[in-house]
Amino acid sequence: MITRRKAIRLLSLSPLVASLLYASKSSPSPRILIIGGGTGAITILTKLSKIFHNPKITIIAPNEKHIYQPGQVYVAAGVYETDEIIKNNSNYIPKDVIWIKDKVKSYAPQMNSITTQDGQTVEYDYLIVATGLEYHYEWIKGLHKEDIGTKNIASVYLNDTDKGTAKGGSSTLKWFESIQEEAKNKDIHILYTMPNTPVKCGAVAQKMAYLTADYLQKHSLSAKLTYTTNSKRLFGLKDVDKRLHLVQKEYLSLQTKFRHNLIEIDTKKKIATYQHKYEIKTGWDPDFQEWESITKKTEIVKMHYDYIHIVPPMSATKDIRESELAVEDGHFKGWLDVDLETLQHSKYPNIFGIGDICGTPLGKTVATVAAQALIIEKNLLSVITKTKLIEKFTGYSVCPIKVAFGKIILVEFDYQGLVENTKMSQLSSESLWKYDLYETKKEYWATLLKGHA
Ligand SMILES: Cc1cc2nc3c(=O)[nH]c(=O)nc-3n(C[C@H](O)[C@H](O)[C@H](O)COP(=O)(O)OP(=O)(O)OC[C@H]3O[C@@H](n4cnc5c(N)ncnc54)[C@H](O)[C@@H]3O)c2cc1C
Repeated sequence: MITRRKAIRLLSLSPLVASLLYASKSSPSPRILIIGGGTGAITILTKLSKIFHNPKITIIAPNEKHIYQPGQVYVAAGVYETDEIIKNNSNYIPKDVIWIKDKVKSYAPQMNSITTQDGQTVEYDYLIVATGLEYHYEWIKGLHKEDIGTKNIASVYLNDTDKGTAKGGSSTLKWFESIQEEAKNKDIHILYTMPNTPVKCGAVAQKMAYLTADYLQKHSLSAKLTYTTNSKRLFGLKDVDKRLHLVQKEYLSLQTKFRHNLIEIDTKKKIATYQHKYEIKTGWDPDFQEWESITKKTEIVKMHYDYIHIVPPMSATKDIRESELAVEDGHFKGWLDVDLETLQHSKYPNIFGIGDICGTPLGKTVATVAAQALIIEKNLLSVITKTKLIEKFTGYSVCPIKVAFGKIILVEFDYQGLVENTKMSQLSSESLWKYDLYETKKEYWATLLKGHA
C-alpha cells in the first residue's frame, strides 16, 4: 500500500519518474550509499527514504550527534547554549536505513565500492558523497588546534563533526567576554583573519567583527579592530561589497586590510605574520590610455594583537582529496569533481555530491545543501530510470550577514549573481534589518526533519 505522504511525494516528481518508481515497487530497489552524517547527507537521506519502497539505503557516518553549525555563531553571541545546537542523528536516520558508524577510507568507483576505516567493503549502485570539509589550523605556522580558546585566540568555527562536538561558539563567547572586560581598562587591538582557501559560510569572520564592534560602540568602549582578508573585497558580489563598506563606516574602530593572508602566529608575543600581496602600476601610457605593466609584489607584514579570531584554512576531506573522485587540477583541485549544474560526478554517472565537499564555485552553506538536495533527488531518479538529467542547480546560496546584534543582511545569490526579487534585491531597505535570529534555528530543524520537502 502506498501511503498518502508517499503518493504526494511521487506526484511532485516528474510523471515519468513517478510512474516508473510506482510501477517498480515489487522489483528490487537500487542500493544507495550515502557518505557523511551532516546536513547534506541527512537532507538527501530524508528525501530518498521517503521515495523508495523497501529502500536499500546505507549511510556511512561516524557521528551520533548532528551539529547545527550556523548556531555556533549564535552561541558565541550568547543567544544559544551549545546543547541547543546539537541533536542526535538517530532522530533523523530512519530505522530501516543501514547505518555504518565508521568513515570511508578509500573509494573504488570502477568496482562501485568503498572501503571503511575498519576495513569493511561496501558495494553500491548509486553513491552520494557528503563528507563536508576539513579545518587546517596547523597550516598557520606556530598555531595548534589546541590553542583555540586559550591565549586570547578564538575561532568560532571550531568543531568536530565526527565526534559531534562544537567548542567554537562557547570558547568565542568567553573570548568575547574577556574583550569586553579588558576594553574597559585599556586600548586593545583585535584581529579577525580570513584564509586563502575556500571556506564554509564566508562571512563568518565579518560577522564576528561586526558583533564585537557593535557591542563595544554601544557600550562606549574603545578598541581597535582589524579585519584581515586574503581577498580584494568584503564580498564577491559588487552590490553586497558596497553595502558592507557602508556597514564598516558605521564602526569607526574597524578597519580592513585586503590581500593579507595569515601565515604564522607567535602566540607568546601575540604577533600575527601575514603575506601581503599587492600590485604596482609602473607608469601611465598616454598613447594607450592605460597603466603600463603591473608588477605583483609580496611582502611580509607583522601585526601585534591583544586578541585574535582565526578562520582556519580549509580543504576537502582526506578520503576525497586522495581519491580519483577529486578534481585533478586548477582552482578546485582536491574537491569532489561534480558538474556545477547536475551535481553528477564528471566521470562516474552513478555518483553525486552534495554540500561543502563539492568543487563548485559558490557558497558552502546549509542553504546550498537545501537547494542541491532538490536537484540530486530528481537527477538521481533520472539516472536510475535511464532518462535525461534535466534538473539544474543554479548555484543558490544564502548568507545571513550579522552586521549588529539583532540585525542581519540576508544575501541570496547564485551563479548569475544576486537572486532577483528576493530580500537582497532590496539591499538598502530597512526591512533587511529585522530578521529574528531565533527563526533561523527553528526553520533549520524543521526543514531538516522534512528533508526540505
Ligand atoms: C561557524 C559556522 C557558521 C555557519 N553559518 C552558516 C550560515 O549562517 N548559513 C548557512 O547556510 N550555513 C552556514 N554554515 C555552513 C554550514 O553549516 C555547512 O555548509 C553545512 O553544514 C555543510 O553540510 P555538509 O553535509 O556538506 O557538511 P557537514 O555538515 O560538516 O557534514 C560532514 C559530515 O561528513 C562526515 N565525514 C567526514 N569525513 C567522512 C568520511 N571519510 N566518511 C564518512 N563520513 C565522513 C562528518 O563526520 C560529518 O558528519 C556555517 C558553518 C559554520 C562552521
